[in-house]
Parts: sequence; structure tokens; C-alpha cells
Amino acid sequence: MTDGKRILVAGGAGFLGTNLCLRLLEDEGNHVVCLDNFYTGRRENIEMLLMNPRFSLREHDVTEPLTLDEAFDEIYNLACPASPPHYQKDPVYTTRVNVFGTMHLLDAARRFNAKFLQASTSEVYGDPAVHPQAEEYRGNVNCTGIRACYDEGKRCAESLVFDYARMYGVRVKVVRIFNTYGPYMDIEDGRVVSNFIVQALRGEPLTVYGTGEQTRSLCYVDDLLTGFLRVMATEDDFLGPLNLGNPEEYTVLELAEKIIAAVGSESAIIHCALPQDDPKCRRPDISRAGKKLGWHPTVSVAEGLQRTVQYFSHLQNVQPPR
Ligand code: NAD
Ligand code: UDP
Repeated sequence: MTDGKRILVAGGAGFLGTNLCLRLLEDEGNHVVCLDNFYTGRRENIEMLLMNPRFSLREHDVTEPLTLDEAFDEIYNLACPASPPHYQKDPVYTTRVNVFGTMHLLDAARRFNAKFLQASTSEVYGDPAVHPQAEEYRGNVNCTGIRACYDEGKRCAESLVFDYARMYGVRVKVVRIFNTYGPYMDIEDGRVVSNFIVQALRGEPLTVYGTGEQTRSLCYVDDLLTGFLRVMATEDDFLGPLNLGNPEEYTVLELAEKIIAAVGSESAIIHCALPQDDPKCRRPDISRAGKKLGWHPTVSVAEGLQRTVQYFSHLQNVQPPR
């Protein structure tokens, strides 16, 4: 044990979690414990990290109470399936992960007097009636729809986080993440950037849902994590919520065209059914992050897509057509 920090990353084997563990380990004082049940995360993501003596894995489902015998200085709660097909597969479980999982991790933060960062989401704004979305906007969520397990689960998680701060003095922070992409996304993840890149690399048609006129704003993972670290380092009376995302906004159709060009693919574009309650637009207002943290994304979508295409093109199971 050095005098560095002991950090728990719940959901550490997923897309953002793997990138976060890597980033935290760059600081040689840090000891990182990844807590995950591999519901959507992958063992392959963290296999190389297990060689690092400052990294360890704890297999656990956060819906079950946590018995941690070691203390932590910081806890990042990323544990939750994040892709619509994954969180809709067992919506009751998704709600349990968000509610019970967040409570169990907050209990741990309370016990250890650890700082706690909650990975919330732009989905708390639902299908927004205000554009772009600032933190003050209270959202437009269909609480009976197929996205509600995730959206309402994350909203409930936010309310728990703030209540643990008010009732028990837990030092908490809430970040609302807007669509983020990059290396270590699972090829089967189902979200738009990984789907399109894998399809383009395989020469398969890109599956645009609906007309493709809906918009998203895409943030490269490294920028997001810089924001995480800065938020965690803020003074204890800063709780958030704070939007983190890249305001560069495109229609899904524009994104498909960009990815085809970035890959140099001859893939066609096909249109498939639009899922229920798919938000029509999304763009973060990041003024608060700019003022509070001096944080702005630095990686353009063009650059971030190139880096992500590079990552996927080296995966053995993403074979281009013969
Ligand atoms: P992901 O699905 O790749 O990672 C989620 C991780 O949580 C996986 O490793 C999974 O196995 C783990 N997990 C799920 N349920 C668990 C449980 N019951 N117990 C223990 N571990 C469990 O998704 P991601 O994109 O890396 O997202 C990470 C977090 O960030 C999620 O909370 C997500 O809601 C939030 N978020 C992500 C984005 C984004 O664009 N990537 C946007 C908004 C919010
Ligand atoms: N989408 C698409 N084709 C795909 C996957 C997603 O057109 O293969 C669309 C989806 O309907 C949504 C947008 O891309 O409008 C972003 O979807 P994603 O699942 O990545 O995240 P969301 O922001 O919807 O949670």
C-alpha cells in the first residue's frame, strides 16, 4: 500500500470503465479495483490490466449488497448496461442495477468516507423539448415506455445520490454523459457508432433506424474521462449535476456517411424500423463544465472516428469481406 489513492471502478470492464481504469493507472500512486459481473463488459478488456500489481478485479453483481473489506478513497459508479438493446433485454434488472446497485455503492462510499461519482446520462432529459439541453432542464421521459427502465432508473439513481449527500454527508458528484464512443466498445454493443463501424468494415449495409434525421452529439472517450477526473477533483460542495459531452451534432444519416468515408467502405445504407421513444435530437449545453472545470472537448468527431475505426480494424473478429 502506497500513499496513493485506492479507487473502485464499478462497471470497470465495460467500454467507459476499461478506458477509465487505464487512465487512472497512468498515475503511479493509484490502486484500482474493477468491480464487475460481466453483464455487458468483457474479460478481454481488462485481461492485460490484471498483470499490473496496482490493478485487481472483484467479480460482483451490484444488485447484491457489497462486502468490501478494504477502504476506498474514490468510487466511480459506471455499473449499468448502457446500450438500448442491452438495457431493454431485462428491463426489471436494469432498474434494479440503477436503484439497488447505486444504493449499495453509496453505502460503501458512506462507510469509507469515499468520494462518489455517479455516471448519469443525457437520457434523464428523455426526448427533449428543449435544445440544446442544459442541466436546469427537467426532461421529457415517457415513464411507461421501453426506455424508462434506463431513463427512470438513472433519474432515481440521481435522487439517491443527492439524498445520500443531504442525509449522510456523502461526498458525491453527478455527471450526465452524452453519447460517447471510442476503443473498447464491444462489437456486439448495439450502439450507433460501433454498429456502423463494424458494418462498414465488414462491407455490410449500415442499419439506419427510421429516416436517420434524428440527431446525436458525439464525444470521444478521452475527452469525457478528462472531465470525470476534473469533476472528481472538485471541492466537496460541488455535487453537480454536470453535463459532459461534445456539442458537435449530426443526424444519424450524416454519421453513417462519415463512417463509410472514414473506413473507405463501399457499404450501402439501409433503413430499419425506428425504435419506440427514440429521442429526436440531443446536444449538450456544456457551459457549466466550461465555467466550473475549464473543460471543453478537444477531439473532433472526424479525429475520434479515425481513432475508433483504427481500433476496430485491428480486432480479429471484425473481418473485412474477402
Ligand atoms: P457498458 O455496457 O460497456 O459498461 C457497463 C459495465 O457495467 C459493464 O462492464 C457491465 O458488465 C457492468 N455491469 C452492468 N450491470 C452490472 C451489475 N449488476 N453489477 C456489476 N457490474 C455491472 O457501458 P458504458 O458505455 O461503458 O457505460 C458506463 C456507464 O456510463 C453506464 O452507467 C452508462 O449508463 C453511463 N453512460 C454511458 C454513456 C455512453 O455514451 N457510453 C452515455 C451516458 C451514460
Ligand atoms: N441507431 C441507428 N442504427 C443503429 C444503432 C442506432 O440508426 O444500428 C440510431 C438510434 O435509433 C438513435 C441513434 O442512432 O437514434 C443513437 O443510438 P444509440 O443506441 O447509440 O444511443 P441512444 O442515444 O439512442 O441511447
